[in-house]
Amino acid sequence: MASPLDRRSFLIRGSAAAAGLLLTAGCGVRGPRAGTPAPIPSLRLPPVQAAEDRIIRTVAGLRPYRPSGFVVDAVRFDETTVIHNYGHGGGGISLAWGSSTLAVERARETGHRTFAVLGCGIMGLTTARLLQDSGFQATIYARDLPPHTTSNVGGGQWSPFSVSEAHATDANYERTFERAARLSHRYYQDLVGPRYGVRWLHNYSLRNAPPSPRSGPIADLFKDEEVLGPGEHPFGAPYASRFTTMMVEPNRFLPAVMDDFLLRGGRIVPREFHSLQEVLALEEEGVVNCTGLGARALFGDQELVPVKGELVILLPQPEVDYILLGGGGYMFPRSDGIVLGGSQEHGEWSLDPSPGVAERILERNRETFQAMYTS
Ligand SMILES: Cc1cc2nc3c(=O)[nH]c(=O)nc-3n(C[C@H](O)[C@H](O)[C@H](O)COP(=O)(O)OP(=O)(O)OC[C@H]3O[C@@H](n4cnc5c(N)ncnc54)[C@H](O)[C@@H]3O)c2cc1C
Repeated sequence: MASPLDRRSFLIRGSAAAAGLLLTAGCGVRGPRAGTPAPIPSLRLPPVQAAEDRIIRTVAGLRPYRPSGFVVDAVRFDETTVIHNYGHGGGGISLAWGSSTLAVERARETGHRTFAVLGCGIMGLTTARLLQDSGFQATIYARDLPPHTTSNVGGGQWSPFSVSEAHATDANYERTFERAARLSHRYYQDLVGPRYGVRWLHNYSLRNAPPSPRSGPIADLFKDEEVLGPGEHPFGAPYASRFTTMMVEPNRFLPAVMDDFLLRGGRIVPREFHSLQEVLALEEEGVVNCTGLGARALFGDQELVPVKGELVILLPQPEVDYILLGGGGYMFPRSDGIVLGGSQEHGEWSLDPSPGVAERILERNRETFQAMYTS
């Protein structure tokens, strides 16, 4: 049996390991200028003050992870169709609008007019809104409502990775993934602004060696990617690749979408389900299952496992307007705080703090930010 330490690891979101993507110099990616002395970095970025007395909270969440990827599928039970939309691992915020669009496409094939949406995290809320836009009547049933869902814990970088394992997926899933990612990326663009807490940000990914160009089916969604070499950026690592992607602030986004749903006549019913029979007894003609990790017990999906992540939230620093991926973790600047994270514990169900994890997250970030402007 693996020890708890074996099951714990840190990731760099959007990194080669997480995304199956690598970066090295060349091929349209600007590299460092060879043979010239390192100039003083003209790029001035404010460091994060990663200090213990700036911590305002630490939180933990369980990513609903399936090695073979998320499920969007319709299953018929006598009169009722259950459409699944769950299991998005560490990329559910990124994939939400797209995956829910695919679920609503399946809803249109059923002939049903009314749907119960199980779950009020990001998948349930986006599904319910899109059902309304397609003329369906939707009611949300959920055990937990925002701000008490896993979706509220999520960091919020638009980066649909850590969602599956390459060896466990098939070509059909890869097509579904690409479609969901592209649809979602496009949908979020129309929500940029303070109301939904969506904005475009520069991301810096620190590297020891010049990275190769990003590849893969959605590489083009990471805009402006270029490699900054020694002297071209203020970080301690020799190289930093920079690209632009969106940041979604869950604590703004989820209440805004919930308001939109209610304003359009939607109903939210707090309720926990304990069996399929209870679900099939609902009055609605169809059901969309957006229960995240809850689908394991409710629908018997044994492949679905938790991947626990902890976040350390520091006092906000409004002047910090970039994402940093490096030092074994990440930093996301949000209006509700500076979010430091990057831990992954496969198969861990407890939401209690794991020994040493928050301390390690803070320490790694302290080292990363103290190293700025020193080389
Ligand atoms: C630390 C951390 C960082 C993350 N960072 C990112 C990121 O930067 N970018 C990104 O794209 N993703 C990120 N994620 C992943 C993302 O948060 C999840 O994939 C996403 O929130 C899953 O959404 P969901 O709606 O499926 O599940 P949830 O938010 O868990 O919602 C499930 C809903 O179903 C309800 N439910 C469950 N079981 C039952 C039941 N039996 N009866 C009734 N109701 C039930 C729950 O109460 C809840 O309302 C992160 C996750 C974590 C934990």
